[in-house]
Amino acid sequence: MQPRDLSATSPYVPGRGIEEVARDLGLDPDELIKLSSNENPHGTSPKAVDAVTTRANEGLHVYPKAAHTDLTEKLADKWDLSANQIWVTPGADGAIDYLSRAMLEPGDSVLVPSPGFSYYSMSARHHHGEVAEYDLSKDGAFQQTADIVLDAYDGERIVHLTSPHNPTGTEWSREEITTLLNAVDDQTLVVVDEAYGEYSDRPSSIGLLSEFENLAVLRTFSKAYGLAGLRIGYAAVPEAWADAYARVNTPFAANELAYRAGLAALDDDDHVDHSVETAKWAREYMYENLDAPTFESAGNFVLVDVGDASRVAERSQEEGVIIRDCSSFGLPGCVRISCGTREETKTAVETINGILAEVAPT
Ligand SMILES: *Cc1c(COP(=O)(O)O)cnc(C)c1O
Repeated sequence: MQPRDLSATSPYVPGRGIEEVARDLGLDPDELIKLSSNENPHGTSPKAVDAVTTRANEGLHVYPKAAHTDLTEKLADKWDLSANQIWVTPGADGAIDYLSRAMLEPGDSVLVPSPGFSYYSMSARHHHGEVAEYDLSKDGAFQQTADIVLDAYDGERIVHLTSPHNPTGTEWSREEITTLLNAVDDQTLVVVDEAYGEYSDRPSSIGLLSEFENLAVLRTFSKAYGLAGLRIGYAAVPEAWADAYARVNTPFAANELAYRAGLAALDDDDHVDHSVETAKWAREYMYENLDAPTFESAGNFVLVDVGDASRVAERSQEEGVIIRDCSSFGLPGCVRISCGTREETKTAVETINGILAEVAPT
């Protein structure tokens, strides 16, 4: 037998892991610097590690229930929402699925950015939806505005926005988001993905939930909180349809350790502040010191126009610095470099400048 026709769905292409690259190159994983997946170079909050260890010692034989309630309430408190407006999910990717489940009828369309995060379209197709794209242009420095989306908009059921945007680093302004929310059909859900929200100085769109019923905002513990390996995130949604969660939620999808880690990480301001400060330093360092054009970023990564992305990424990997070739995002000229620690970032810039000199001598 065969699965259903999945030919329209391209497989998700993750950044390559340290272990697999080390194995390929015959290197010690400790010799590699991984700046390909926008992970937190300072690791996990020590408080979260403690909480996980404690919980594991106490036993994991019970379904996660109280911890789910606790995390939901803590997040509702943080954002000044009621608890049912927080949909806790296995990663922000899980939240994308839950919104697809809640909104899409077979054949409904979603509108996604190009270049952009590939899971928006994958999730729509999993839910028997169709996909249309709006283009962010390199010549326009990947600027994001209501006009750009509305030019492509044709009554889609879901419009996905990313702010800060992956892989370009650009942001939406509050004014442009409001313009878009007012302009689309009231049965069109605008999803603002704030996976990198902690690194931005702009206010979260969660603040608009009291004004708009066609808005959902995604957040994750994977980036600034350093919990990518545990898979925990959430959507913040309007009161009007918040109760749909109970109908679309996979029972116990997020796990006990993830809830405990999330609860502890929310209390560890030092870890988040330090992580954000390092990322802001690293962004500036890359703009100033890379010998190739960079795009200003509000995330924990910088997009760099290197000309031949696959060659530069491959050579960089051979030199021990793993970066993201953006060809799979539709940007064959660009690489995305995650912000490392100060030391890692300096080494990466030096390595990549060496490669740029060799690939395109000036
Ligand atoms: C990393 C990322 C996510 C998802 O992260 P999870 O690990 O599933 O929480 C979502 N959107 C964008 C744009 C991302 O870069």
